[in-house]
Amino acid sequence: MELVNLLLRSFFLAILLSNVTAHLSRQRREITHSEDCPTPMTKGTTPNLEHIFVGRCLEFQQIHSSRYNCPGARVNCSDAWLKFKEAVVGQDPCNINDNAYDELLDLIPIEFADDMTLFWSGTNKLAHGYAAASPTTSTLEDSMLGYMVNGLNWCSSEGSDEYSSDPCPDQEPDSCTHTSTGVFWASVSTMLAKQASGIAIVMVNGSSPWPAFYNGSFFAKYELPNLDPDKVTNVRIIVAHNIGGPINEQCGRGSVKTMQELTAARGLAYTCEGTPRDVQSFQCVENAGHAECQPRTDATGGIVREGKMRKRIRTQTEPASSIS
Ligand code: NAD
Repeated sequence: MELVNLLLRSFFLAILLSNVTAHLSRQRREITHSEDCPTPMTKGTTPNLEHIFVGRCLEFQQIHSSRYNCPGARVNCSDAWLKFKEAVVGQDPCNINDNAYDELLDLIPIEFADDMTLFWSGTNKLAHGYAAASPTTSTLEDSMLGYMVNGLNWCSSEGSDEYSSDPCPDQEPDSCTHTSTGVFWASVSTMLAKQASGIAIVMVNGSSPWPAFYNGSFFAKYELPNLDPDKVTNVRIIVAHNIGGPINEQCGRGSVKTMQELTAARGLAYTCEGTPRDVQSFQCVENAGHAECQPRTDATGGIVREGKMRKRIRTQTEPASSIS
């Protein structure tokens, strides 16, 4: 009997040891892997930039868009690549001309239907998820040019007819005011704002430690100032809060108040609301278990479908989900 016990104990010990060894060697492999491969992000020009740019251009027209289906409306992707590249190569990477991308913008303009344009600031993740779920709402990154270039990095090297292989300089207020990417996003943000018509949505972050409306943001510098009061009937300001808070900014206060005043001063009508129901419903897909996302019940236990959203509750146990 004792011998059987001993054999059983040795057997389980062996299994335990082999599991621990396998776990440690897996961990070692992961550590070695991350040491070999410091980071997939590069601060230099994105590797395979041309292939990605042209590939996305073809893909967008072929798969995502009905607009470019007619042969006459198709964009020549090699032509677009040349215009994109020639806009900056050879130039000082800190002094790109404001109009450098004009030919590219003429080739691939942004033209959304009425009520469709959604601007975002500090709400990258939420705004794009919301727009993806709504067929009548589009962000810059849903436009063909925004889609093609989103997430890419590139910079020139003075006198060279190729992109730089060094880390790209950051845009700086005094020393490096006009980078390749900075001028590109300023130009397309301006174009996006100028074409907006009907209701224009802007979704800002009321839970961030930063101001919801920040005068250094692209929205403040290039989008709000370029909305056309003759075309935009209402600016629908959405101050979105994380499920579970915090509520750092609200309509009529702080930087949101400043944004409302600037909007009105430009002759634009606006409305302002804290996280509306459609946005919160979308947030609840990712936070289904949170108290704020539970259906309200009445005294009989039935689900209440009408009326206002439940009061926001901030709990210690449920972490806030990030919208930025
Ligand atoms: P953003 O979210 O890119 O930048 C806001 C950021 O500014 C915050 O995330 C924060 O890091 C920073 N910030 C906020 N307050 C600050 C403060 N007081 N001091 C220092 N930093 C502060 O939003 P954005 O700049 O408004 O750009 C987004 C808008 O512009 C969108 O509407 C889009 O159309 C366009 N855009 C898109 C891209 C892109 O890469 N797809 C790039 C630029 C612009």
